[in-house]
Amino acid sequence: MATITLTVSKETLEKMHAHYEGQIIKVPPYSRFQAKTSHCVVTAYNSLKVVFQGSDPEAEAYLWQLPPVGEEPQSPPIIKATGTLPSNIARLSAVGCDEVGTGDYFGPLVVCCAYVPEHLIEPFLKIGIRDSKDYKDPKICELAEKIKGKIPHQTIVLPNAKYNEMVAKGMNANSIKAYLHNLALKKLVQSLPEYPEYIVMDEFVNGRKYFSYLKELPKKPEIIQKNLHFIQKGESVHVAVAAASILARESFVKYMDLVGKQLDFTLPKGAGPIVDRAGRELVKKFGKAKLEEYSKFHFANTGKILK
Ligand code: MG
Repeated sequence: MATITLTVSKETLEKMHAHYEGQIIKVPPYSRFQAKTSHCVVTAYNSLKVVFQGSDPEAEAYLWQLPPVGEEPQSPPIIKATGTLPSNIARLSAVGCDEVGTGDYFGPLVVCCAYVPEHLIEPFLKIGIRDSKDYKDPKICELAEKIKGKIPHQTIVLPNAKYNEMVAKGMNANSIKAYLHNLALKKLVQSLPEYPEYIVMDEFVNGRKYFSYLKELPKKPEIIQKNLHFIQKGESVHVAVAAASILARESFVKYMDLVGKQLDFTLPKGAGPIVDRAGRELVKKFGKAKLEEYSKFHFANTGKILK
């Protein structure tokens, strides 16, 4: 069972009282009320602390974390999540989500969500499914080959041109990631016979920020929120995150190989001095437009390359 504690304003506490009126089950000592929703118990204390407990408290707590449109929060809400996943999570079927390409100046942003059922956890660990950062490209492709036919997964490759367009419209790397993860998750969840009990996302921003990015999108997407947990170093918590990382990296590597062949020019990975050198050469050979076409143009590398 997971717990989230929020500190709310007096007004919010009153609003919550009205909101949960029909679901109040009792009034424990020092509390204003305790209510029960379909998957969460909400206890609101006179001290303005509100505790959400249940299988998925995040979704319920989220309702109360953002100020209404046009209103500034009195004081920022404090979120404390504890025990968000069962201690044996590593052995339970789960969806894992991860992305690659964020730190690479050249090449796409790739996100992947992968479902690993209980019976494949052990075999995957045995063949060495770990975070893709632990492996060189050929090994990643070899591992990806071994697992991709065995598990449901959704990979989205966002080419640089599209990425740069989104940045120009005011999005940042994290809001783009949130958008892509939600999209991949939606597709994956739809393809599964049952809604997954656990979804582990390798945390790149906290849950509150993630959902607020999704809510800010001009075209309101359907938000996949139930059973979603944000975990730092998610790949060490569940092999599904590692599998997602490997599959995403494989797509990235293959994409870069293809671009390299098409241009007859190798675009190096990362964002170091080699990348700057290659960038200058690319501009010399093909012009600035090609740099924009294949890079994350808002990186500091662009300035160094074009100066
Ligand atoms: Mg990650």
